[in-house]
Amino acid sequence: MRPFRHVRARTVEEACALLVEPGARARANAGGTDLLGALKDGIYPEPPDVVVDLKSIPGLDAIEAEDAELRVGALARLADIARSESVRTRWPIFAQAAQAVASPQIRNMATLGGNLCQEVRCWYFRYPAGLGGSIDCLRKGGPRCPAVKGDTRYHAIFEGRGCFAVCPSDTAVALAALDAAAVIEGPGGRRELPVQDLYTPLGTVLEPGEILTAVRVPPPDDGSQSVFLKFTVREPIDFAVVSVAASITLQEGACTDARLVLGAVGPRPYRALEAEARLIGAPVDDQAAAEAAEEAVAGAKPLRGNAYKVPLIRSLVGRAILAAVEG
Ligand SMILES: Cc1cc2nc3c(=O)[nH]c(=O)nc-3n(C[C@H](O)[C@H](O)[C@H](O)COP(=O)(O)OP(=O)(O)OC[C@H]3O[C@@H](n4cnc5c(N)ncnc54)[C@H](O)[C@@H]3O)c2cc1C
Ligand code: SF4
Repeated sequence: MRPFRHVRARTVEEACALLVEPGARARANAGGTDLLGALKDGIYPEPPDVVVDLKSIPGLDAIEAEDAELRVGALARLADIARSESVRTRWPIFAQAAQAVASPQIRNMATLGGNLCQEVRCWYFRYPAGLGGSIDCLRKGGPRCPAVKGDTRYHAIFEGRGCFAVCPSDTAVALAALDAAAVIEGPGGRRELPVQDLYTPLGTVLEPGEILTAVRVPPPDDGSQSVFLKFTVREPIDFAVVSVAASITLQEGACTDARLVLGAVGPRPYRALEAEARLIGAPVDDQAAAEAAEEAVAGAKPLRGNAYKVPLIRSLVGRAILAAVEG
């Protein structure tokens, strides 16, 4: 690993200032479960000479559940989110998604901010420099994407533009279904945006010096029921091939609101709007679930290696809808 200076930030302002210090290339570090692997593998064409530790900032790991909202600091560990009684009771898909990440060891180190901001898992992007040199690609500032004509089995089938790597974060999918907002702070002040808008086809919307400081989740609607399902190749410790977060509100037997969000199918959590529209205004039965599942794949554009994701999504969405309404 290339040597770097490790600096422990004591405040958000200090961290943001360190990240844009003139003459230094800096990266933020939280739990380090993603960043340190990426640095060891030498995947960055311009590796950092300063690593800014966010864990030393006090108070950024709080999980505060109130009537009005849930607020989770960016440094909250996934294990703490998964076992938080209030998250499990009122925002269960958030707890389920945090629990679905990796292994106990990783969940005990990994933070919410790191999970949302982790690098993509595209194996061209991640190819270790020590094995004959790293692979250049669009996401690293190169001219093209070598994956698109190569092995695309885990790549995007929605919204891929130039880069076809998928957002690997499980919590992002659940948070998008819960209509959560990401709180960002940086040299230009504080701003908020929906969690799914954190992502661009080539990375995140974070500007130099900005960090994610918290996530705000509104209270669940009366009568809403939700579920998070994840399909992986390997049973334990694996990234999603496809995941679905479904949140459905029923009143007097009819669906009054639905949010269906797919994970690992695009550069950001993908909201299946047509499928949601199919559910709203009617009872949710087997036929409605099957029709909504069909709508969910309507806009899919598989690459040559990943058309198998289409029937997988259809099946997972149908199951998620029925599982949500059956509680
Ligand atoms: C074996 C293995 C299996 C895994 N399986 C899954 C899985 O099934 N599902 C899943 O979702 N993830 C999975 N992961 C990824 C894992 O969840 C992430 O490594 C972890 O969540 C990152 O959190 P961290 O705090 O360690 O981040 P770090 O490694 O510290 O940081 C990750 C990235 O985010 C940036 N960053 C960190 N915090 C902030 C912040 N507050 N603001 C802005 N930028 C920030 C860093 O600069 C870095 O680029 C897996 C990882 C491993 C190693
Ligand atoms: S899919 Fe994206 S990350 Fe992967 S090689 Fe192509 S440009 Fe790079």
